[in-house]
Amino acid sequence: MPSGIVALVGRPNVGKSTLFNRLTGQRQAIVDELAGLTRDRLYGVTEWRGRRFTVIDTAGIDPSLIRDDPGLAVLAAGTQQQARLAIEEADVCVQLVDVRAGITALDQEVATILRRGGKPVILAGNKAESTRDPHYAHELYCLGLGEPTMISALVGTDTGDLLDRVVDDLPPAGNTNGAVIADELRLAIIGKPNVGKSSLLNALVGEERALVSPLAGTTRDTVDTIVRHRDRAVRLVDTAGIRRRGVIDTNVEHYSLLRAFRALERSDVALLVVDANEGVVAQDRHVAGYAVDAGKGLVVIANKWDLVDQERRADPSFLKSLQEAFDFIPGVPLLTVSALEGRNLRRVLDTAATVATARAVRIPTAALNTLLRDAFLAHPPRNDKGRQLKLLYATQASTPAPTIVLFVNDPDLLHFAYGRYLENRIRAVFGFAGTRMRMVARARADRER
Ligand code: GDP
Ligand code: GDP
Repeated sequence: MPSGIVALVGRPNVGKSTLFNRLTGQRQAIVDELAGLTRDRLYGVTEWRGRRFTVIDTAGIDPSLIRDDPGLAVLAAGTQQQARLAIEEADVCVQLVDVRAGITALDQEVATILRRGGKPVILAGNKAESTRDPHYAHELYCLGLGEPTMISALVGTDTGDLLDRVVDDLPPAGNTNGAVIADELRLAIIGKPNVGKSSLLNALVGEERALVSPLAGTTRDTVDTIVRHRDRAVRLVDTAGIRRRGVIDTNVEHYSLLRAFRALERSDVALLVVDANEGVVAQDRHVAGYAVDAGKGLVVIANKWDLVDQERRADPSFLKSLQEAFDFIPGVPLLTVSALEGRNLRRVLDTAATVATARAVRIPTAALNTLLRDAFLAHPPRNDKGRQLKLLYATQASTPAPTIVLFVNDPDLLHFAYGRYLENRIRAVFGFAGTRMRMVARARADRER
């Protein structure tokens, strides 16, 4: 499970997205490609020294910086706004500066915001790979952020040192607030503003009075709401965040996105609400990908079904097109709902419970090995430069989200397509609907160690 949020902050062009891509890596890129989401990725999960955490490229959360050609004033305001969001919602902030360009006024403004935020801040001097280019490393100290770590995001130099510092500054894993009731189902309701999250929440709770009102103006008030469903406690995580509107005036959207990451961390299953009438947008798919990548179960709620006209409602291809937007996540359930009219509401918690159960399935080791041996026989892996992947043994790791560890002769021989094939064979028997399955290949030596 990822735990902890790290935000990459800095003025445009210092190398945030380059570093982001380096940290969140190849696997995610492949997944995104499958989902047709190569552009504008903003958050990913990474792992360092056994700690999994979320990395956010803050540049991506302000679309005004990507669109058109924003003026300088807009850029500066946007950069500062990102720093504020980061300091509010992240556990650790990494400010990037360009050592070849030296420190600018905007760098300084960002540093001031971060310094005042009371969160750990790490200063990274990027583009430091060349000893021949002029260097302004000495200027970095004037930001008042302490010792900088010099890196090259492009080449990868010393990014490990940076990650060491990040991991040291993260709060202990799993240190999330709120006692957990045994066997409770923890749900996060996420989605863009205005799709009907708080309406859904209210409808699920039954009556608005049951909710605790958050205090206005504070940001860290995490209020959960617990409802009972078929004798099970269902915790609706961070209901304060769902109901809060317009806290950071124009940036509600970015705000709610960061808040959603927080809520996801503490949940088992995400209810992703989309507007059925407006259709699925790229951001919905991003968030869905993120949720399953973070090891959460996912249920898509196509809300406002009452607004969809009769003709499209009766047209199977319309529903299919909604479903297809998420087909990069095998078996993700999609429910057509009207929070306003109460349509299909009963199925929401039932489906969430089913997904949670599916996610918790433990495959007996013997059954897993038989299944995989059959899969290898039915469709052997292709030779790669004369060598062939050999499976020695497989086991399901004892993690909350399904992770299959394959002990093989050489992990490099497990190609993506073959991993997918094995995954599909496992899914055909054990389901795991609406959950990302991780397939990890290890060399035999790892097992003996
Ligand atoms: P962002 O606007 O902060 O996200 O910056 P980008 O990641 O888009 O990088 C801006 C430019 O700097 C791109 O042309 C990158 O290739 C380049 N860049 C990023 N990191 C490095 C680095 O470590 N060394 C060098 N030489 N160039 C870099
Ligand atoms: P949130 O920003 O995602 O929490 O969205 P809200 O729950 O505040 O809803 C935004 C607007 O959509 C409000 O005006 C709701 O009344 C409306 N709305 C929510 N659910 C439905 C629905 O199922 N059908 C219709 N027609 N409107 C809805």
